[in-house]
Amino acid sequence: MTVPVLMYHAIGSGSSGSQQYDDADFVVSEENFTAQLGYLRDNGFVACRLDELTDFQASDKRRIVISFDDGHASDVGIALPLLEKFGFTAEFFFTTDWIGKPSYVDEDGIRALHRAGMGVGSHGVSHQFFNDFTFEQARQEIERSTMQLADIVGSAVDRFSAPGGRLPDRLAELVELCNLNYICTSEIDTCNENNYPLAVPRIAIRCDTSISLFEKIVNADPTYYRRHQLRKSALVLLRRMLGNQRYMDIRESLLELRR
Ligand SMILES: [Zn+2]
Repeated sequence: MTVPVLMYHAIGSGSSGSQQYDDADFVVSEENFTAQLGYLRDNGFVACRLDELTDFQASDKRRIVISFDDGHASDVGIALPLLEKFGFTAEFFFTTDWIGKPSYVDEDGIRALHRAGMGVGSHGVSHQFFNDFTFEQARQEIERSTMQLADIVGSAVDRFSAPGGRLPDRLAELVELCNLNYICTSEIDTCNENNYPLAVPRIAIRCDTSISLFEKIVNADPTYYRRHQLRKSALVLLRRMLGNQRYMDIRESLLELRR
């Protein structure tokens, strides 16, 4: 049994979105998000936290994990009431430098998510990519962010999602030093015994993810996953050749052209 893990960012209020984001591609409208949750409920899916995903052999339930990166204000303003309405739990990863900034969640919001039974995790301090860090910088980013979040919610924070999906070197040592139990990546795959809990792959849900594409993603359609794995490998190779900064500059120019 494999479990798809979805990665969301901001949920837009209304059809056009009401907030300012760096990457509009990743803002899913409230209408689409509601339709996606409705699809999951109507098709018998149970959305759960990472720590609730234990027995991969259990085949009686169709499980899914919903996650949110960056800590946008819509986590609390839009996603939380909808998740509660549908009876789902989810994982929220916060970039701690952005907590309380305009259009981002504040400390009260993080506490509200935690109280509602949602997972709270780190998405770094600064959102810089971890493969650009030295080992010590990576350790400090994880330690500072998990400790700050633990102070806010009043219990240990043991999960991390890598900004841009870029993992640091010597990950096993960091896991040990920083007491991490769950790590989310942006690899394209479903979650299974081989990658759970320290290399959990996730599929990005974007502004243009149609309900028919969403259906393929959550039903683990092998054609979808294979095609996107190939595309991702090509992009990762390109990124290695160019370096993170140059890759992001080129990506930004391409996105500008499309707008
Ligand atoms: Zn991010």
